[in-house]
Amino acid sequence: MTLDASQTTSLPYRIRVAVPVPLYDSFDYALTAEQYAIAQIGARVAVPFGRQKLVGIIVEKLAPDSALNPNFQIKFIHALLDQQPILEPIVLSLLTWAAQYYQFPIGEVMHSALPSLLRQGKPYDLLARVWRLLDLDAEAQLKRSEKQQQAYKILKLHPQGTAETILNLSGIDNNVLKALAKKGIARCDLETQDFRPEPVQLAQMPLTANADQKHAIQQILKALQRYQGFLLDGLTGSGKTEVYLQVMHQVLKQGKQVLVLVPEIGLTPQTISRFQSRFHGHIALLHSGLTENKRLQAWQAAQTGKASIILGTRSAILAPMANLGLIILDEEHDLSYKQQEGFRYHARDVALYRAALLRCPIILGSATPSIESYHLVAQAKLSCLQLNQRAGIASMPKMHVIDLTVARKQHGLSEQLLTEMRKRLAENEQVLLFLNRRGYAPVLLCENCAWQAQCPHCDANLTLHVQPYQHLHCHHCGTIQSMPQHCPKCQHQPLKPIGLGTAKIENVLQTLFSDVPIIRVDRDSTSKVGSWHKIHEQIHKSEASILLGTQMLAKGHHFPYVTLVAILDIDAGLLSVDFRAPERTAQLIIQVAGRSGRGEKKGEVYLQTYRPDHPLFQTLLKHDYRCFAQETLAQRQLAQLPPFRYAILLRAESRHQDYNQQFLSQMRDLLLQQAEENLITVWGPIPAAMERKAGRFQAHMVLLSHDRPRLHFYVRQWWPQLLKAKTADLRISIDVDPQELS
Ligand code: ADP
Ligand code: ZN
Ligand code: ZN
Repeated sequence: MTLDASQTTSLPYRIRVAVPVPLYDSFDYALTAEQYAIAQIGARVAVPFGRQKLVGIIVEKLAPDSALNPNFQIKFIHALLDQQPILEPIVLSLLTWAAQYYQFPIGEVMHSALPSLLRQGKPYDLLARVWRLLDLDAEAQLKRSEKQQQAYKILKLHPQGTAETILNLSGIDNNVLKALAKKGIARCDLETQDFRPEPVQLAQMPLTANADQKHAIQQILKALQRYQGFLLDGLTGSGKTEVYLQVMHQVLKQGKQVLVLVPEIGLTPQTISRFQSRFHGHIALLHSGLTENKRLQAWQAAQTGKASIILGTRSAILAPMANLGLIILDEEHDLSYKQQEGFRYHARDVALYRAALLRCPIILGSATPSIESYHLVAQAKLSCLQLNQRAGIASMPKMHVIDLTVARKQHGLSEQLLTEMRKRLAENEQVLLFLNRRGYAPVLLCENCAWQAQCPHCDANLTLHVQPYQHLHCHHCGTIQSMPQHCPKCQHQPLKPIGLGTAKIENVLQTLFSDVPIIRVDRDSTSKVGSWHKIHEQIHKSEASILLGTQMLAKGHHFPYVTLVAILDIDAGLLSVDFRAPERTAQLIIQVAGRSGRGEKKGEVYLQTYRPDHPLFQTLLKHDYRCFAQETLAQRQLAQLPPFRYAILLRAESRHQDYNQQFLSQMRDLLLQQAEENLITVWGPIPAAMERKAGRFQAHMVLLSHDRPRLHFYVRQWWPQLLKAKTADLRISIDVDPQELS
């Protein structure tokens, strides 16, 4: 039903709705008096929008008979979808703030906080599948299946019924349950879910904290009833997790929820089991790898307060929580906390804001904190707590640099490293080799005419892969080509693979160490379900093996038998144009090195490089990340780079570079006219470091200012002007506090 403005005076009942469209306003809708009476802020509503039917969130109930916007044709809602709010007031404020801060449409921000089933308008009350025994004397029938016996035992312990999700979490899959049902032993009923909070119990005694841990725990516990931000700056293996667990225990005892955020790849079975073995209770897992149903259930457990511990990746910071009392963000320096497309929020900054709104403490933990966090410490906005020793009996590994310009080597592995590897493996210890390049070789070269295999759509080389078959792959746009048999330019053959990828090193190792298991960990080898589980098993066997991998190996894992770590090629990180490259390289080195010697035996670390004199290595050799960070902070201050100025990055993309640059230049002039003089410095526009990607040209422009509120004030008015001025072929995006400038 649509009415024009002259008729709308007779529509006294209206609500304001955040609708998931790429527009920056919320929209008003009419509803009946009965609907108005039960409409709740934070609940979903189905509304017409143009010709579509969309699911929005009610953000305001307008006072009856308040003035109408005469420019807007008001429509009636289709239906109210929830009787209760599904986004609580704190989360609504958080999302409203985030939409403004990151210049992203409010309706889309609200949608990113919902599981997809709720976004689609599905009913909130999903029915749960609950299993019960029909036959209490059936044990004898199950002799042949261990799994069925196990399921039977659990069901017998809980005559009131056990949810299928809980059975799944205990390792019983649905086939086992179906088999029991077929034999007439058990039955499944669909029931409305019980969202009552499940109490948490301590399942395992805490470790005896050492002096540093004790101090950190005490300081945080003093702040339980108020907002305070802590930076837990602790060496790799210094027992940060134990600090989290002991602080969590106190918060859980007060009946409050704890949110633990980990980087995207950090949510391995190993991390989960550390929390599960300390606390018995409902732990909700929120990450992107869940089925839609599981995600909805975990989200509801967080939202209703049923789960007391929520373990999640980036987007969990947007989920509503009934009774949140503590936020922990582990590996706070990790880049995966920043969303790199669409709604480009940084989970660390959103988490700090959320803790402030809630007036609860927040712990940011890392062995290699971000320069931003050290800056907040310097400004007394975060309290720094240090853990300066490895926990238990482990000690820090010794670091060595191997000069590749003089070293004798085989396929990129220096003789010195090979000798050390043999020694360690002979002692039944484990070796970890780090190489941040997947595939077989990064370059395919013609030795006759210097032709290289290049992506037809990007300014980038194609990577040679040999598994599962020989092919060329662009790691930037995904293009796949078959492997050419001869040079397309001069017909010369064969073509030569140059450089090392993990798959090639794996081959080399298989010949050099034929009797040692080699475990490769990269995106190609872990994409299969269950592969992490196998890797985990091998790592926790006390026997000689070689772990070989990319970034994925660097993150927070605990490998008790690894005593030798080598970084095969770190030089690429030193060449990047991004001013954050040294910070990222230093973090990577310290994190990878930190996987060594975490058990009883002392560890060592070898860095292979063609630039052994680089000052970065000299500082890090002493394990002095903090010293490195202070130097970096001083350099950033001198150059007035973030975090000493606030940055906003504009990206433009189209089929013509001229067009990007022209558009951005015009818009730059417009902004500089509107803002006060000297408030905003603009870099660019310039072509992006990789100018052509997936067939389109990219340009960048960076805005910098000392005054964040004024910068944001002007950009808020300017950004809609850009969206209006641009043509359809041009794509632009805005990235507030960008993490990557290349
Ligand atoms: P981090 O998260 O700082 O890298 P972890 O929490 O993984 O370190 O701890 C490293 C190892 O030390 C773990 O095996 C942990 O169980 C052990 N540990 C932690 N604190 C203590 C302690 N107080 N006493 C003995 N062992 C500890
Ligand atoms: Zn050639
Ligand atoms: Zn490409």
